[in-house]
This record gives sequence, structure tokens and C-alpha cells, in this order.
Amino acid sequence: MAIKAVRGVHDILPADAPRWQRVEAVAREVFEAYGYKEIRPPIFERTELFARGIGEVTDIVQKEMYTFEDRTGESLTLRPEATASVLRAYVEHGLHVQPKPVRLYTIGPMFRYERPQAGRYRQFHQLNLEALGEVHPALDAEVIAVLMELFGRLGLADRLTLSLNSIGDGACRPAYRENLVAYLRQNAGELCGECRARTERNPLRVLDCKQPGCQPTLEKAPSILDWLCQGCAQHFSRVRDYLDAMDLAYRVTPRLVRGFDYYVRTTFELLTGELGAQNAVAGGGRYDGLVQLLEGPPDPGIGFAVGMERVVLLLPAAPAEAVPLALLIPLGEAALVRLLSVARGVRSRGLAVELGYGARKLRNELDRANRLKVPYVVIVGDGELQKGEALIRDMGSGAQRPVPLDRLEEALMAMKSGEPR
Ligand SMILES: [Zn+2]
Ligand SMILES: [Zn+2]
Repeated sequence: MAIKAVRGVHDILPADAPRWQRVEAVAREVFEAYGYKEIRPPIFERTELFARGIGEVTDIVQKEMYTFEDRTGESLTLRPEATASVLRAYVEHGLHVQPKPVRLYTIGPMFRYERPQAGRYRQFHQLNLEALGEVHPALDAEVIAVLMELFGRLGLADRLTLSLNSIGDGACRPAYRENLVAYLRQNAGELCGECRARTERNPLRVLDCKQPGCQPTLEKAPSILDWLCQGCAQHFSRVRDYLDAMDLAYRVTPRLVRGFDYYVRTTFELLTGELGAQNAVAGGGRYDGLVQLLEGPPDPGIGFAVGMERVVLLLPAAPAEAVPLALLIPLGEAALVRLLSVARGVRSRGLAVELGYGARKLRNELDRANRLKVPYVVIVGDGELQKGEALIRDMGSGAQRPVPLDRLEEALMAMKSGEPR
């Protein structure tokens, strides 16, 4: 039996690659217009980085990491998210001495051992953006603006809803948390098993539960927004003012808590109604204190991650793949030798052509040309070689014209910029 790909991973095939390339190209363009620079951390790190950076009690660290020992017995983990790695690099390379905010982005695969289901993979891909060293609420609004600009340029903004929340900070969240736990314990009978387990382990995440039976109870749960301290309430209201000033629409969603321990104050998600339960296409928030937790300077930060698989699913099918301009058909070895150098010449000037190898019959090569959908073929047999010319055939009309062999390269280049088929 042939070896197959591992469960829960997927190949991005040539027919799908243009959509991925488009997302990446648009992301780079938008991020760089806002001053973000690319960073490419490795895809594995010491396990303790994620345990510390994401939080020991999160589902990710407890259940979903690909952790292994290398040959020296050191515990390593394939990154389940990018922020911890980016911040580790930020501290390790002293990037914090640069003018603040330091703006970084990265694009690449992440790894989580989750139950495979539609649209969820064990190796998945994210765009990640982080802005470090600035607490001003205008930065929160600006980071959200980057996200909306990205989806606007991809033509998807109208199909997404921005959810916005503040989850408070060390000053106000503990009291809210206590109040929430008391409420959840009181109503434990109305909640699912996962909710009851999370009540003790990570109570804010209970608010994330999607079970229909839990909704009436969770809708009546105390709201974090009623518990924000003055600093957090003010920060949140200014973020909203700045979003309003930029005409960015959002829905305040007090139950939006996100899956990471490290978030404080602003959190946000971009949601779609088109992908079933996998409705978050992007999410992020502020994580003041995380850099310090990783033994860096007391630099605040805010960022987001975009799930690329989900974005690609929302994009229309890629336009037809690019087709080479012509198939060069040498009939025999001498013609092949001549056309090899013509092909090399035009390819080095950026023109895509296909080349036969001289061994097949003309009929077979024309059949190949049809399957490649090339607009032209160039035929060179012994007769043409003797006359020093090549025949260019328009595959649409069937019309043929001879071109001197020593001007073939220029003729092909002219056809590239010239007449459509
Ligand atoms: Zn539940
Ligand atoms: Zn607060």
C-alpha cells in the first residue's frame, strides 16, 4: 500500500495554491503598508516557552501540543501558535530597543493535536501580526484596522462580523472571575460536563461553550463589562471611539474571551456565518505582561492571528491557472538542440513556454498542446531547419506562418505582449 499523508493534515495542491498565494501577497502588502516587518521564527521551540507563554491550564497546553523529546532528552514542541515564538525572538534579539511600537508579522504553519473535522487541521496555517511596546488604545484600533483592511482587500469584509470585547486586567478580572465562578457553580445543573469542568479549571472559557443547552444560563451570566475597573473601562471606550472615527463597524460581545490566558483588555474576533461551527476566521487581543512573563522588558503588546484555511475556503475558486504561451515542438534531435536554446532564451526573459523533446510524433505533440491549452505551437522539423525557419501555428484558428529561426525568440517575446488568442 502506498504511504498516505498523516491524519488531520492536508496538501495544498497546485490548483489551490493560487488562492493561498493571493492571501499571502495581500497580507504582505497590507501589513507592510502599516509598517509591519516580517519575522520567521522556527516552527519548534522548547516546550516550556509555550507552557509559560500560553498558560499551563489552557486546552492547548494540556491536550493539544505536539511535544517530543529530541535525542538529548530535551522536551521540544511544534508551535501551536506564533505569539510566544515571536516574543521569544523579540526578547532574545533585543528588538525592543527599536522605536516603539515594534511591528512584526509572520506567516506559516502551526500544529495542534485536535480531533480532525471539517476545516480544522492538525497542521494549519496562520497569518500573525504583533505590535509591541505601546499601550495607547489607538494602537488597538489600528491593529483592528489592519485586519479589516486585509479582509477588505480580499473582498470578504461584507461577509464577516467584527466582535469586540474587553476582558479586563489583573486589577478587575479576579473579582469578576470569582463572581462568575459563583454563578456557574450555582447553575451547574443547567450546564454541560465540559462547562462544569471548565468552571473549576478556566472559568472564562465556559462563556465560549457552543452547546445549545448551555446558552440560556450563559446568556444570564454576569458580564465582564460590568466589572471593568476605571482604567479598563476608559481604555475600552477609547478603542471604540477610534474605531468609530475610522468607520469600522463592530459588535460588542461580552462573552468573547478567547482561548489564551495572556489576554488583557481588548479582545476581538472576525466571524463568518458561512463555515458552520468553525466561525472564527481571525482573532486577537492585547497581551500586556506577556513579554515580561518571558523575561523580557515590561513591554505591552497586541496582535491577531488569521486562520488561512478558513480564509481560503471563503475565497472564490482561483481563476484558471496561468498557461504557457506556446509549446515548442522539435521533430528530431537537431531541431531539439536548436529549440532548447530558444526556450532557455525566452524563459530567462520571463516568458513561460513548454518544450517537446523531439521523440514524439507531431500528432501526439499537438494533442499535448491542446491539453496544455497553449494558444500557440512552434513546429521545427528537418524541412524547416533546412530553410532556417520555424512554423508558428495559432491553435485557435489553425493559421500558420513561418518565422526565421534566428528571429524566433524575438517573435515569441512580441507575441507575449501582443495579440490575444
Ligand atoms: Zn456547555
Ligand atoms: Zn481593569
